[in-house]
Amino acid sequence: METWQKILQNSVTEPTAIAARFGIDPAPLIAVAERYPMRINPYYLSLIQSINDPIWKQAVPDELELQDQVCPADPLNEENQSPVPNLVHRYPDRVLFLISSTCAMYCRFCTRKRKVGCADMAITEESISAGIAYIRDHSEIRDVILSGGDPLLLKDEKLDSILSRLRAIPHVEIIRIGSRIPVVLPQRITPNLVRVLKRYHPLYINTHFNHPDEITRQAASACNRLANAGIPLGNQSVLLRGVNDDPQVMKRLMQRLLAIRVRPYYIYQADQVQGTDHFRTSVEEGLEIIRALRGFTSGMAVPSYVIDAPGGGGKIPLLPDYLQQLGSDVILKNYLGDTYHYTNAGPAKPNEELEWHEAMGC
Ligand SMILES: *Cc1c(COP(=O)(O)O)cnc(C)c1O
Ligand code: SF4
Repeated sequence: METWQKILQNSVTEPTAIAARFGIDPAPLIAVAERYPMRINPYYLSLIQSINDPIWKQAVPDELELQDQVCPADPLNEENQSPVPNLVHRYPDRVLFLISSTCAMYCRFCTRKRKVGCADMAITEESISAGIAYIRDHSEIRDVILSGGDPLLLKDEKLDSILSRLRAIPHVEIIRIGSRIPVVLPQRITPNLVRVLKRYHPLYINTHFNHPDEITRQAASACNRLANAGIPLGNQSVLLRGVNDDPQVMKRLMQRLLAIRVRPYYIYQADQVQGTDHFRTSVEEGLEIIRALRGFTSGMAVPSYVIDAPGGGGKIPLLPDYLQQLGSDVILKNYLGDTYHYTNAGPAKPNEELEWHEAMGC
């Protein structure tokens, strides 16, 4: 058995074990873990420094999960945009393809909390083959995003088989894998896994760091192995109350990501998912974070801040107000709040164009 498999096997799945370790009352957490599965592997557990710290909040069940009266189970309407089970076709040229139902740690804020780690998220050889057949039959699909659950928890051979079948489809230009493995179980990024992945370029991985404390020596070395195999790495964070709803924490996270060759891609406004209401922040707080990044640090450290529109409308970017319309011109505000006037060119009128050409002597 490989190291990562042993780590996974020793995961804590009962609140009593957490309660005993940290000296808290397990009773309120037991009902939560019955409804939404808990799995904290020893590696991620070792990152917790104290009760209720940002690592704890992402991993340990909270009784507030059962008190959420606000949010629906499937706010993004994924189930109704699935032409075949476990494949979401929302955009014209790309699909989200769920190929794994389990994760190396169950995040308490997960958007697919309704099904990830639960028996009714049935991912079978048949559902995977049906997904691949759908992609083969739809020549407009040029980008396939593998997700789950966590695709990188599948066995190397299984991933190899899925990737090779996708690569055999001529219209599939790029393959992306969305995975939290580099964050929650970096030991899984083995030399053999990397050898498999690099056979299917152009292949991108978007991972999911939410807090600078997750960027450990092990996580850095996992990302290094992937980047050395030519796999461009991106990061999608979720804005979470009590975890990273602080401009300074986010800035540190984005800077440290670049230092391990992971390019910040998205910050998501938390979805309105049942059982996660206590994690949500206001949109203004998200805009404040973007305002604190843009101009104050490397442009490469500034991801797009997006809301996945409730009802399945897709991702919508949100920007602080840098731009104001003034008649046909624009007033611009820079990162320090200074204003600048930019005169729009507008459509050239025929006569003006002539005069301009004459004036230029051409
Ligand atoms: C996020 C998402 C994508 C990918 O969106 P990009 O903006 O291209 O990264 C595709 N399909 C679904 C259903 C998604 O939720
Ligand atoms: S790793 Fe991703 S899919 Fe799995 S529980 Fe966390 S957020 Fe959800």
